[in-house]
Amino acid sequence: MRDGAQIHDANDRLAPLRSLFDLPPDKVYLDGISLGAMPRVACAAVQQVMLQQWAGDLIASWNKHDWIDLPRIVGEQIAPLVGAASGQVLCADTISVNLFKLLASALELRPGRSVILLAENDFPTDGYIAQGLAHMLGNDRCQLRRVPATKLEEALDGDTAVLLLSEVNYRSGERYSMRELTRAAHEAGALAIWNLAHSAGAMPVYLDACKADFAVGCGSKFFNGGPGAPGFLYVAERHQNVVQPLSGWFGHRHPFSFEERYRAGEGVQRFQAWTPPILSMAAMHAALRVFDGVNLDTLRSKSLALTDAFLDGLQSSGIAAEFRCLTPRDHTRRGSQVSLAHEQGWGISQALIERGVIVDFRAPDIVRFGFAPLYNRFADVATALSTLQSVLDERAYEDARYAACPAVT
Ligand SMILES: *Cc1c(COP(=O)(O)O)cnc(C)c1O
Repeated sequence: MRDGAQIHDANDRLAPLRSLFDLPPDKVYLDGISLGAMPRVACAAVQQVMLQQWAGDLIASWNKHDWIDLPRIVGEQIAPLVGAASGQVLCADTISVNLFKLLASALELRPGRSVILLAENDFPTDGYIAQGLAHMLGNDRCQLRRVPATKLEEALDGDTAVLLLSEVNYRSGERYSMRELTRAAHEAGALAIWNLAHSAGAMPVYLDACKADFAVGCGSKFFNGGPGAPGFLYVAERHQNVVQPLSGWFGHRHPFSFEERYRAGEGVQRFQAWTPPILSMAAMHAALRVFDGVNLDTLRSKSLALTDAFLDGLQSSGIAAEFRCLTPRDHTRRGSQVSLAHEQGWGISQALIERGVIVDFRAPDIVRFGFAPLYNRFADVATALSTLQSVLDERAYEDARYAACPAVT
């Protein structure tokens, strides 16, 4: 395994990118699906913004250093990474806030239809936000329907206003067909909102080509924008005249005219609600430069090769028999992680972390091994497998210290 890993790493065209990140040398980091590693340029950029722009140029920086335009500028950096032509992506807020705006907009575009269709076991915040909207608007304007992901197509009907789905499921790592499900939604007269939290930055995404209506995504995962990084939203050009409910001053056509009456801005700008967090945006702006010149098909191939190597190693070592593997073998249906379910999942994840293999745990029993193709190596796969083997052999997960779960897993 180790020799094979060395050869793979030596032949990996993306291998030099790892040196762009500041990673602890004694750890194997497999949690870029939750918090991406820190690009060195992000650190330098934040320091520069603080010490030179903020401290030195103070309020003049809004114009002088284009702070005012960062949501659009960073949105344009993200656009080619998600298959969107210019003018449709804005870097702002978080997934939850952006979903609130976009779900409300989608309902506005589908009067007479009230159902938001979701998949069971998708990321909870999507459903929570939809529930909040249903409570606010009332059930005749907005209600939720949740079905297993395999039943989404047949659940689409004349009441469905919008289908909301993650392209890659956070628990299982299963990837769904954006092309087919968007087409099915449109054939039923509904719109499609895609959550790109676990796909963008790990593989090519084809929003325009799949005719997606709206999308949201995260800055802190595969985009490496830092903890609490701003997210992004995509609004297909054909929908940009819709009203969105968070009509704050930065979405106004002329924020600094200080008019009493709200007039929505042009294009995607109206989806911005308020003052952007400049320090976080500066980190994100710099972090995305790591993607300059990276071919997304090469990135995807490496991601699949990493998860293939891990899945193959689980099989050949016999470890696979100890777990229920939730991640599909089929390449077209796989994201950039491997999820293994085990009764002792919490203890196993903690024992791995203590031995330097950083994974995470998702309730009730899932250990997630995330592979970030920008910086993970085939050697990381080999170390993860041998460490997992020793944790199981020694039953290290039974340690009494792993009896209680902390607030953040
Ligand atoms: C990480 C993640 C989120 C995070 O939501 P925020 O509002 O940005 O905190 C939402 N949805 C999915 C699918 C995620 O993976």
